[in-house]
Amino acid sequence: MAFFQDLGKKITDGVQDASKKTTELIEINKLKSSISSEKDAINAAKIQMGDKVFAMFNAGEAIPDNMAEDVQSIIARLEKITELEGKIEEIKAATEAEKASRAAAAAPAAGAARFCMGCGAPLAEGTVFCGKCGKKQE
Ligand SMILES: [Zn+2]
Repeated sequence: MAFFQDLGKKITDGVQDASKKTTELIEINKLKSSISSEKDAINAAKIQMGDKVFAMFNAGEAIPDNMAEDVQSIIARLEKITELEGKIEEIKAATEAEKASRAAAAAPAAGAARFCMGCGAPLAEGTVFCGKCGKKQE
């Protein structure tokens, strides 16, 4: 009987150990999540600091010397963005121009349906004589 009691105790202990480990893991994950939130908040605050320095520079205010390089780098990148956006506009404009010229090229053909001056029958493109009545077109 002692054997079964021991076995029962072992199982109970095992369940309690597993349950304790689960609780520990949950606690650790909660703490890690809190650490992660704090780090996110720090990064957001750093970005805000940078925004403030950049705003100061834009307002003509003095900024710390060691930040001038970062500000110049941002300005260079903003100029690059403007340049890239310009290229997008160029591509769009070229595409629009091509579309317009294709439409213009297609328009005369569509509007160039001709009819015989004698009988009014439709004339095939480039024909001089009517295929129906034979009248020469002027
Ligand atoms: Zn005709």
